Amino acid sequence: MKEDPIIIIGGGLQGLATANALLDRGEKVLLLERNSGVALETSFANAGMLTPSQAQPWNSVSDIISILSGIGKKDSSMLIKLREFPSLFFWGMGFLLNSSKSRYLSNTDNICRLAQHSLELTRKAREEYKLHYDHSSLGTMKIFRDELSFIKGKKEAERLNDHGITFTCLEVKDVVQVEPLLDDISDQISGGIIFPEDEVGDAYKFCTELEKIIRQKGGRIHVNTEVKKILFHKGKVNSIVTDRVEIKASRVILASGSWSNKLLSNTRLNLPVRPVKGYSLTLDISTLSDKPKMAIVDEGIHTAVTPLGYLLRVAGTAELAGFSEEIHQKRIDYLNRTLENIYPSICSNLDLEEGSLWYGFRPMSIDGMPYIGLTKIEGLFLNTGHGHLGWTLAMGSADLLADIMTGKDPKISAKPYLTSRAL
Ligand SMILES: Cc1cc2nc3c(=O)[nH]c(=O)nc-3n(C[C@H](O)[C@H](O)[C@H](O)COP(=O)(O)OP(=O)(O)OC[C@H]3O[C@@H](n4cnc5c(N)ncnc54)[C@H](O)[C@@H]3O)c2cc1C
Repeated sequence: MKEDPIIIIGGGLQGLATANALLDRGEKVLLLERNSGVALETSFANAGMLTPSQAQPWNSVSDIISILSGIGKKDSSMLIKLREFPSLFFWGMGFLLNSSKSRYLSNTDNICRLAQHSLELTRKAREEYKLHYDHSSLGTMKIFRDELSFIKGKKEAERLNDHGITFTCLEVKDVVQVEPLLDDISDQISGGIIFPEDEVGDAYKFCTELEKIIRQKGGRIHVNTEVKKILFHKGKVNSIVTDRVEIKASRVILASGSWSNKLLSNTRLNLPVRPVKGYSLTLDISTLSDKPKMAIVDEGIHTAVTPLGYLLRVAGTAELAGFSEEIHQKRIDYLNRTLENIYPSICSNLDLEEGSLWYGFRPMSIDGMPYIGLTKIEGLFLNTGHGHLGWTLAMGSADLLADIMTGKDPKISAKPYLTSRAL
């Protein structure tokens, strides 16, 4: 063990999980977060699903067609801004290359393996530290609007079953039995698939719980601290410059999500991660007499509706629009419509305008897998690029990185996720 602390840049799911994993291996950590608290960016109000069952990356041919058909349209669930084309060109090429059947399938398998490892560690942490984050272990249910997508969904589930993902296909009447509030739309669905081992939980609450544990273990977390630059000397990390001070450092982990690239601008490293903006709307359903129990994924439109304690969250949509802070009313209408299409009777008893709207920037890699491990620069490590599955993959990714950094054998092979495949 070295004496100086490992500096972790970013206090979202990845930074916090990494800090915790390193402390468990006897390392000292200093986590720096530019915001006034942890997990106020992409880890704040995501869909809350821990789903090895959704290990498929987003570069399937059907997703790509959906993205392309959204160009220029504001009312699609996916959108790409023409002005972003230059910055997306090489990333987009890599994204397309990874849509070949063989790569798509092997990337799915790798994500699934890491997701399962991660979920196991999330459960373990919950029990060990008695974490409260409105979790539910009821599983998740995918619903299908037509026979063809139901057949496709069953095939995908069967493939994941080879990795031990269990599932049950449900006829419409069984879907309604599992979630009686879906009775309103029973004539519009072809069936469902339930994944009993998936979990659900509030990622923000998990992060704040983890923050407490990290501090109790002696880890330091400095909020309101923006890292402006990482300085290098002779191919090695030398120090980091924050908005207040320069700190000597020999080991730095970039866990800055979609912003990780900015801190590499003084290097030759070109990290293929781009922000994919998504929205969520969270409603207080405490006054409803009948509340949904089960997290639902409406397949095909990447939209999820998740009960989290007394809240109901609908999340989804994907915009390749850089870090645009613009809120598109059409995207909000889309989420409202989605909720109405799943739970019409609930919506008639709620004022959707009172919901809390949020957006975050998924750090999307070209192959759907995170970048974990050492870069070509000595002392500079990454844990980023978790895209649409950063909650599902957080504890497992941190575990791999901590093992790599401390010279231990990772519990699953780290090879597919290593940073060296890109940098
Ligand atoms: C709508 C939506 C729904 C989603 N649903 C799910 C889901 O159901 N399940 C799932 O598994 N995943 C989901 N995700 C994905 C998941 O939320 C992300 O993958 C995850 O939050 C990324 O975590 P992170 O720590 O990498 O990034 P972030 O949470 O964005 O954290 C990065 C942190 O780094 C900080 N930072 C950046 N630059 C600096 C700097 N220079 N100095 C100091 N600090 C800095 C930022 O302030 C930020 O706090 C969803 C995402 C979205 C947008």
